[in-house]
Amino acid sequence: MIEVKNISKIYKTEGYEQKALDKVSVNFRPHEFAAILGPSGSGKTTFLNIVGGLDQYTSGDIIVNDVSTKKFKDRDWDSYRNHRVGFIFQSYNLITHQSVLKNVELALTLSGVSKNERRKKAIKALKEVGLGKHIYKKPNQLSGGQMQRVAIARALINDPEIILADEPTGALDSDTSIQIMDLLKGISENRLVIMVTHNPDLAQEYASRIINLKDGKITSDTNPYDGKKEENEVDENNRKLKKTNMSFLTALTLSFNNLMTKKARTVLVSVAGSIGIIGIALILAVSTGFQNYVDSIQEDTLTSYPLVVSEEAADLTSVLLSMRSGSEVDAKENEVKEQQYITSMLTSVSTNDLKSFKKYLEEHESDIKDDLSNLQYAYSVDPNIYTIDATNKLAKINPSNLFSSMMGNNTIMNSYSSMTSIFTQMVDNREEVEKDYDVLAGRWPSNYDEMIIVLSEKNSISDLLVYSLGLRDTEELTKMVTSIMSGE
Ligand code: ADP
Ligand code: MG
Repeated sequence: MIEVKNISKIYKTEGYEQKALDKVSVNFRPHEFAAILGPSGSGKTTFLNIVGGLDQYTSGDIIVNDVSTKKFKDRDWDSYRNHRVGFIFQSYNLITHQSVLKNVELALTLSGVSKNERRKKAIKALKEVGLGKHIYKKPNQLSGGQMQRVAIARALINDPEIILADEPTGALDSDTSIQIMDLLKGISENRLVIMVTHNPDLAQEYASRIINLKDGKITSDTNPYDGKKEENEVDENNRKLKKTNMSFLTALTLSFNNLMTKKARTVLVSVAGSIGIIGIALILAVSTGFQNYVDSIQEDTLTSYPLVVSEEAADLTSVLLSMRSGSEVDAKENEVKEQQYITSMLTSVSTNDLKSFKKYLEEHESDIKDDLSNLQYAYSVDPNIYTIDATNKLAKINPSNLFSSMMGNNTIMNSYSSMTSIFTQMVDNREEVEKDYDVLAGRWPSNYDEMIIVLSEKNSISDLLVYSLGLRDTEELTKMVTSIMSGE
């Protein structure tokens, strides 16, 4: 049961305060279909976002199955959003370059379910909403109603107790709207569905309860609930908050798939270090309007991604943030202003005393170990790895000579060669990695000098890797590049 007690929400914008919700109190049954009606600007979306933990209340309390959320930490809110709530939006919010199946699977990544299990569950959910035949299509190959079904499958996949829908039929024609309503009604048989709508007729016909909002206040409620157990009600209290493995950041990262390609955690170790994933996540979080996630991102990041303290470091976060559009300083009339990105980046480079830091960590190990999932030291030693290549010659695999063989003595391109390094040191907490991969041949390495080749999700390796490993003659590559450069 959800108890909303005296919730107010005040948005503060420069010199002006907007009261979006004004002491709203209402209880929801574990299973019902509640529709929220009200004129535009009456606080419907704000209400939904606050109940779903997407936005924070200014005062009051929300009590979830007898637990107050007043003392909720960011992590508790994450867990709440990921395990208890499913969201459906008017604009579907699907990731356009990913398949329908992938869109639904992604929602499960948030709960750390294994890959095979994810796929199975996603397919099942898509069948349930009548999309069994369309799972490999991209969202733009679907009709509006079908896209909303994908969003519904996605909202259901974590088996949440609460479904929140903000004008789910707002962009659909009336026939399609009715189908979506039927779906939601079915869902509300064993879940709480709260739906914001503009359409009183649909609400009248499908919802079991209509709550009217005006100027941030509830003006009427057709079927109020005093919070006492009613007949036929199942005790939901035994559903405990599960610990969240990954969170919103994972979703961001995964939508970055093209940038990061597959290798997930292993590579993230190096990517996180080199491009400042926290900074990028922050920017994304800000620019996509999920402002309240920002506070939690730092904390979340540390639970799933390594916090790298290196001897020399630049504060990329602040640099990236300062490069965000809109953060430019206004120039005066008749002036052109220089934005000092490079300067600020260079001045933010600093040196850390890692020796003392390591000593500190070792001395305080018993105090800090509960807050860490893993602690690992790396010494920037790039191993020299040789092999007999396809032409029976001795070839150096790491550090790779591939770029120089392709680019000759182009120093700029050669500086990228470290980025295309095919070798990454294995992280210590192997279980984390093993969870995300299947072993197709051989076994996990058990000794310091053993390696594994990481395949993509579709079991492929890049030609770059084929050349890098010496499975093909790098001379071929050099020849190809040379002939293209000379205009052939
Ligand atoms: P509805 O969904 O009913 O149209 P909203 O909940 O979106 O209404 O908005 C309620 C009020 O709060 C409106 O006056 C709106 O301008 C204001 N509001 C909503 N979100 C913000 C925000 N992020 N910052 C400032 N004011 C906001
Ligand atoms: Mg709205």
